[in-house]
Amino acid sequence: MGTLPGMTARVTVVGGGVIGLSAAVELAGRGAAVTVVADRPAADSVSAVAAAVWFPYRSGASPSVPTWLARSLGRFTELAADEATGVDLRVGTVVERRPGVDRSWTAAVPAFREATPAELPPGAPAGVRATLPVITVPVYLGWLHGQCDRLGVRFSRRTVDSVDECAPDADIVVVAAGLRSGELLDDDTMYPIRGQVVRLPNPGLTEWVTDEEDPAGLTYVVPRRHDVVCGGAAEVGNWDLAPDPATEAAILRRTAALVPAVAGLPVLSRAVGLRPGRDTVRLERIEGYAVPVVACYGHGGAGVTMSWGCAEEVAELVAAR
Ligand SMILES: Cc1cc2nc3c(=O)[nH]c(=O)nc-3n(C[C@H](O)[C@H](O)[C@H](O)COP(=O)(O)OP(=O)(O)OC[C@H]3O[C@@H](n4cnc5c(N)ncnc54)[C@H](O)[C@@H]3O)c2cc1C
Repeated sequence: MGTLPGMTARVTVVGGGVIGLSAAVELAGRGAAVTVVADRPAADSVSAVAAAVWFPYRSGASPSVPTWLARSLGRFTELAADEATGVDLRVGTVVERRPGVDRSWTAAVPAFREATPAELPPGAPAGVRATLPVITVPVYLGWLHGQCDRLGVRFSRRTVDSVDECAPDADIVVVAAGLRSGELLDDDTMYPIRGQVVRLPNPGLTEWVTDEEDPAGLTYVVPRRHDVVCGGAAEVGNWDLAPDPATEAAILRRTAALVPAVAGLPVLSRAVGLRPGRDTVRLERIEGYAVPVVACYGHGGAGVTMSWGCAEEVAELVAAR
């Protein structure tokens, strides 16, 4: 990561979730003077709710998705060598329920193969076995924050009401405010994709499994370092932040059917997150405000998965000023 030309800018990043923090690391690493403005700590962001497997779930239709996926997978694979990052490479199964499921994501993956019938749940005709990064997000967000500190990134805890209010302290503003980004940039194309998870003690599982098209509903089991994340839900347009007991009961039924080892375990915690839905990720330079803006938001269910690829592109767009 060398210093890019033009990278002497003062950059304000609005947003302290995985997208804002990754962009801040990338920008500061290339020489920019970065301030992250966020009204909530990373631990209270949607990012903190992510499961999180590197997988392009609801990643949007941008033609750059394959590039962001490949770049991010490379970075996460490197990070997995350092235990402090919270990133582990783990084998698991993507269950498929119908012919012709999009497998383009495998282009970025060095280690994958066809799942055998014994590796699939009853009734599932196919699937992919792959070694992918599993990101224990509470550890990872702390590590990202530590990288920001090491690179001299400053933090400010406040709500930004308009991009222009950042102008006195910034040569350029990066909007990475997740679902609320649209409010800052007159963009009414965003919508929540409500997710809900249940966290259980890890009974010794290491393999993850996702079954997007389980007839009973989206189902995944992701073992992390100290727990197992069971999901899920993907309710477009639902803004309700309260965990729904009926949804939780259904998640526990489906995940126990998929992975019997999680049946009957006590619930450690539960969480709801509103994924920042948009038909395509918005990653572009915008003129017309008091200072230039780089927008980076709308990552749906794949913000962690695409984070490094997007952060690198943010840095390139900032350097292009
Ligand atoms: C249940 C669930 C499971 C998921 N699983 C995965 C997974 O396995 N893999 C994966 O890649 N992704 C997963 N995701 C999706 C992922 O969590 C999101 O794509 C990602 O967190 C989006 O990150 P973000 O930084 O854009 O937004 P956020 O994490 O929402 O961060 C937004 C930040 O902006 C700040 N902010 C917003 N508006 C303002 C303002 N006006 N002024 C100041 N600050 C502001 C907030 O305080 C916050 O710091 C999952 C999501 C959910 C809900």
